[in-house]
Amino acid sequence: MPSAQEVPVLWLQTATCSGCSVSVLNSSAPRISDLLLQEVLPGRHVNLRFQATIMAGSGEAVLDVLEGTQRELPGGYVLVVEGSIPTTDGGIYGTLGEEPMVDRVLALAADASAVVALGTCASFGGIFAAGPNPTGCVSVTRLFEGRDLAAPVVNIPGCPPHPDWFVGTVATLLLLGAEALELDEFGRPRRFFGRLIHENCPRRAYFDEGKFAKKLSDEGCLYEMGCKGTVTHADCPLRRWNDGTNWVIGSGAPCNGCTEPEFPDLISPMYERLPEEALLVPRKES
Ligand code: SF4
Ligand code: SF4
Repeated sequence: MPSAQEVPVLWLQTATCSGCSVSVLNSSAPRISDLLLQEVLPGRHVNLRFQATIMAGSGEAVLDVLEGTQRELPGGYVLVVEGSIPTTDGGIYGTLGEEPMVDRVLALAADASAVVALGTCASFGGIFAAGPNPTGCVSVTRLFEGRDLAAPVVNIPGCPPHPDWFVGTVATLLLLGAEALELDEFGRPRRFFGRLIHENCPRRAYFDEGKFAKKLSDEGCLYEMGCKGTVTHADCPLRRWNDGTNWVIGSGAPCNGCTEPEFPDLISPMYERLPEEALLVPRKES
């Protein structure tokens, strides 16, 4: 039987809380250990060569792996970026192996076969790029603007992203290529982000009949409690979280709009009703 093709993955953590790592590492189908150790993708095997949260090594040894992968396999690895990228003062407010993260991301992206921006910070700037943003944090897409980089960029937003969104996207990339990922105008796979939360929300009937919760434990639609499901694209109501156990509205709290480019600045205050005119605010660039 032919052996599976090894696909190296380099996962850089830039300005991040590491919550995206924690979420994705909780993947249940497949479990992350199976994804990394077994051939769960026919003919492909993910070789996660660099991931600071879970790798055992440190220092020069792991930097050699990072730099060696680029040197030896140009065009043959996937780059995952978790977090936004500090750019003020040459990017000195975030370093990795004594190099500014911004330089690491740009260098590794130049030879990647694809770049996955994991989480809302990498996809759109997110929390770290929220005003006043003294470190000049930007999204992957914004960082790449005006640069001649061939690798396709896929955004998987979410604060944090659902593990299925990452695993499903990476599986499609490895098995079928980037062209098989149908992306929306914000670079998100439509398969996961093609519908509004509001379209599939089990409280939708309350919205339609005008029955609104006045406090979090009330029955009714959570629109007046600050729910942003009317403007947020994700499949959380159908997929649910923690292995399908529940999701935010199912547990009585409003959707915070975490998968949208406007999160968090334009979608705040989080627990206040979204003004109707907010739906007409031009989207900020990612
Ligand atoms: S709770 Fe939110 S998503 Fe659900 S119907 Fe109300 S506004 Fe829409
Ligand atoms: S329900 Fe809303 S806030 Fe919660 S994860 Fe989904 S998109 Fe983000």
